[in-house]
Amino acid sequence: MAHELPPLPFAKNALEPVISAETIDYHYGKHHQTYVTKLNGAIPGTEFENMDLEDIVRKSDGGVFNNAAQIWNHTFYWNCLRAPADDNAPQGALADAINSSFGDFDQFKEKFSTSAANNFGSGWTWLVKKAGGSLEIVNTSNAATPLTSDDTPLLTVDVWEHAYYIDYRNARPDYLGAIWKLINWDFVAQNLAG
Ligand code: MN
Repeated sequence: MAHELPPLPFAKNALEPVISAETIDYHYGKHHQTYVTKLNGAIPGTEFENMDLEDIVRKSDGGVFNNAAQIWNHTFYWNCLRAPADDNAPQGALADAINSSFGDFDQFKEKFSTSAANNFGSGWTWLVKKAGGSLEIVNTSNAATPLTSDDTPLLTVDVWEHAYYIDYRNARPDYLGAIWKLINWDFVAQNLAG
């Protein structure tokens, strides 16, 4: 079963000026596509050949895991983004849950951005729901993903250099400061509601 690159949930230039169409061309069109191509090249004749993507992520390791998890992580990341809005903020039950776990929205953003800025090397920073129901910020390295844990992923930000280098060069904190305009809180709320 060949895996396919899922369509982007927005136009390539929809995230400008925070994330350029050129970044999307490379990040989605080259990096995300390459993970799909490599997974499809790696699984024929293996136990993963007819498995759906989430099962592959949960059951594989090595190169198969790296490519499958990166496909899943990137699709989740694109779904976390939408066109920029200056007053972008969570509402309702999601806002209540963030306030309950982090104090208020500003403290949450500060803690998330600090965690993401300090995520050494390539990786992802996540907002997850713990099995007990509280929210937590988690860093993962390389392709690692909460999908293999008991945590429910709610939101992610890609902190691999390819996510921001065209637009922000080495300044990861500038990318993290701007990305709050883009977060699709409706998607995050859906993940919280399950
Ligand atoms: Mn990426």
